[in-house]
Formats: sequence, C-alpha cells, structure tokens
Amino acid sequence: MNKFYLCNAIAYVNGKPHMGHVLEYIFADAIRRYHILKGEDVFYQNGTDEHGSKIYKTAKDQGLEIQEMVDKNNQTFVNVCKLLNVEYDVWIRTSSDHHKKGAQKLWSKLDEAGDIYKDSYEGLYCVGCEAYLNEKDLVDGKCPNHLKEPEKLKEENYFFKLSKYSDQIKDLIESDTLKIYPEGRRNEMLALCEEGLKDVSFSRPKKVLPWGVNVPDDDDQVMYVWCDALSNYITCLGYGSDDESNFEKYWPCDLQMIGKDILRFHGGIWIGMLLSAGIEIPKALGVHGFITSEGQKMSKSLGNVVDPSEIIEQYGLDALRFYLTREVPTGDDGDFSKERFAIVYSSDLANNYGNLVSRVLAMVNKYDVNIKSEFDVEGFNGVFEKYSEYVEGFDLKKAVEEVLRYLDTLNTLIEETKPWALMKEGNVEEATKVLSNLVEGVRRASIMLWPFIPGTVEKVFGYLNLESNISFADLESTIDDGHQVGTAEPLFPRVEV
Ligand SMILES: [Zn+2]
Repeated sequence: MNKFYLCNAIAYVNGKPHMGHVLEYIFADAIRRYHILKGEDVFYQNGTDEHGSKIYKTAKDQGLEIQEMVDKNNQTFVNVCKLLNVEYDVWIRTSSDHHKKGAQKLWSKLDEAGDIYKDSYEGLYCVGCEAYLNEKDLVDGKCPNHLKEPEKLKEENYFFKLSKYSDQIKDLIESDTLKIYPEGRRNEMLALCEEGLKDVSFSRPKKVLPWGVNVPDDDDQVMYVWCDALSNYITCLGYGSDDESNFEKYWPCDLQMIGKDILRFHGGIWIGMLLSAGIEIPKALGVHGFITSEGQKMSKSLGNVVDPSEIIEQYGLDALRFYLTREVPTGDDGDFSKERFAIVYSSDLANNYGNLVSRVLAMVNKYDVNIKSEFDVEGFNGVFEKYSEYVEGFDLKKAVEEVLRYLDTLNTLIEETKPWALMKEGNVEEATKVLSNLVEGVRRASIMLWPFIPGTVEKVFGYLNLESNISFADLESTIDDGHQVGTAEPLFPRVEV
C-alpha cells in the first residue's frame, strides 16, 4: 500500500481563524480524500504555531497568561476544522513538550553538521514593541506605535548557513526532485536561489524573547521561528521522541501545502535545514494564493470579512467547500463574491448535480426500471484520467470542472433520449438502457465529487442504496443487475438571500 503524507502550514495563534485558513484546510482535505479514494495509507498533519514575539506581546497586551491564550486560540482552529469536516491524523502544537524535544534534536543535527554559528545582530529595538524595527517604519525617528525613539541594540544570535545549500536547492528544484506547483512559484523560488540564499538568523536572546524553544546547551537563547516552527512537519511524526515509527513510515512528505507568502521559507530555509540534517526533503510543495472578498482584501474597516459559519448556515458546508475548490484557482488568488456564490450554488450544485440525481432516481422509481449493469462508457472515457491528472498536478479547480463537464453530458443524455417519451412509446428496453446508464453515471460522478463535497455524496450513496465506503476501485465495475435504488431528497434546496 502506497503511503501519502500531506502537510499544510500550521496556523499562527495570535488571532482567530480567517478565510485564508479555511481555504488551505479545504484544499488539503480535498487532496487527502482523493488519496483515500486511491486506497493509499494517508497521513495528514495539521496544527498550530504557538511561539514568537507577536504571541508574547499579544498575551501581555491582553493581560493573559501566554499558555492560557494559546490554549484558547488553538481551540478555535480545532473547532474550525471540525466545522469544515476537515479530518487530520495528527494535530501538532509547537508549545508541546514532544515538539520541543524534536526541534532540539533537529537543531543539534544542524549544529553537528557545522552549519550553526554565532554572530552579532545590530538593529533598532523598540522596548514597547519588543521587536526590531526597520528604519523605514519609523516616523520622525520614533516608533509609530509607542512614539519613542528605539534603542540601538546589538545582540548575539546563532545563524544557520543557508548560503551553503543555495546551489543544491536550485538543482533539486530544476531536476524536479523537489516539485513546486504551480510553475510560476517554481520559477520564483529558482530566481531566489539564483540570487543566492543568505544565511538566516536562527535564534533570539531569551531576555528579548522569553517564549520559545530553548537552544540546546545555551540557556540564554531561544530558537527563532525557523527551527521552532518548520520542524513541526517531522516532530508531529514523532521525530526526536522515543517512538519515531511514524517518521520512518511517512517521511518524506508527499505534498506540503503552503500559502504564497511563505514559499521562500519552505522552498529555501526548510529544505536547507533538511539537507544539513541529512533528512530527505519533501517531494512536492503546493503553493496556493490568497482569497479576496468582492474583489478587495478582506478587512474589518471595509466590512467585507467573510465569516465561514454564516455561509455554512445559509447554504450548507458542502456549498462552501465546493465554491472554494471550484472558484479559486488552486495555485493562484481567488475571490469570494456573494453574487457568484449564489450562481455557483444554483447552477452547478442545485441544477447540474442535485436535479440530475433527483430526476434520474425519480424516473427509475416511477417506471420501475430493472437496472442493467451494462454501462456505455463512451461519455466517461478519459474523464477520470484527466480528473486525476489535475488533482495530482495541484489543480483542484480543473478537476472539479472535469466532473462538471461529465455531469453536463449526463444531463444532455436525458434531454436527448427523453426516457419519459421512450416509456410512452412502450420502448422499455431503450428507456432501461438509458436510465441504467444514468444511474451508473451519477454513481461515477459522485465518487469523483466525494473529496470536495463528502457529506452530499454520502447522502447520494444512501439514495442509491450503496455502501458509503467509496473508492476509485469502484470505477472499474458497474452497479449490479437489478439493483434497487431509493428516492432522493432535494440535495441543494433553494436559498432565499
Ligand atoms: Zn514600539
């Protein structure tokens, strides 16, 4: 059995989940379910990034204990996954002890490889912000938030020799040993390697940042985000713990999903760290874009922030899952538009799929059709192959469109053959053939839709009187002769907006 290890970026818990997280979780879950249908041993990591100065500061500003705040915020991400029907195999939290142990083991490996060195860092430090500020962010030489002049501060940090791996990383990307989807992001990463990746600051003094993972054998330093957070992709598999069996079984990662803003960290620093530690690198990075609302960046002041739970209440969860995978190009930016949502809901879901299911089942029942197992595959030829190729190439949108086209051909088949007219003419044989084909077509389209709208497809399988342990292997056979189907409830009822 093939294994498939899928990762997505862990969420930073200094705030609540937003549509960007929802987008990534739904993409990841669709890919996860696709690989389950392939019969693979799928392992999907998810979790939260709980250290760093922003979290430290947010907690202090709100007068909260840091651990208490991250516990509370972490729970909101767990809840949103539940709301979205996103099922993960492990939930990693970077403030957990086993994660810290794993991050320290990784650090030690880099150190043993001679890739960690101490150097000093000089910058403008604002005590109020507890952060270094850029010269360009100052207003009249002062911190714009605290209206105080920052101090010139010099600190000793550890650095990671990323520059040493720049050429090697470039080769790995060029040879597709590390695939990066889509092409544009691959080129972007190659250009960064071409410029030469630079060494990165890898730790902070504990007096500046008292909230993090301790650097091994140095009580004065904590890890900066790189070794602290990126290591989650292996510590969630038990790396650095007493039981590394999942790490041995599932690593390397088959697909690592990230947003476009963190490509350089995952395509550069993370790969460099793994090369230094002598650990295999991920096979592929899938880079998605951002989601806007009504054509603009979501912001509280514009009042265009989309609340997923409101959409779910109005249209149902699968409508949201479907909209995001069907409307947002998987490797690019996309938009959430209420008008467009209503159109997609009624045309693709209610009409193209929902009505097809109800009409076919209603006719089969009305005419008491004795279903035949012969299936005219002509309309189905090549559909599954293209659908698979798209998902494997990190293009969920095209995969969904392929299924929608197939649903179109089934709807056209009804219009062209008019089973009700055939029955009226007494041509039971032809009507039986057409309706058997339609039932089989509905079954096949539903299997391919399961990764995107699992709850709906499971209902359809119920109406078809089929067991819901769905798999792509079911595409190699057809429904049994004489199979009895049930009746369908409306899948996507009319929504009054
Ligand atoms: Zn400040």
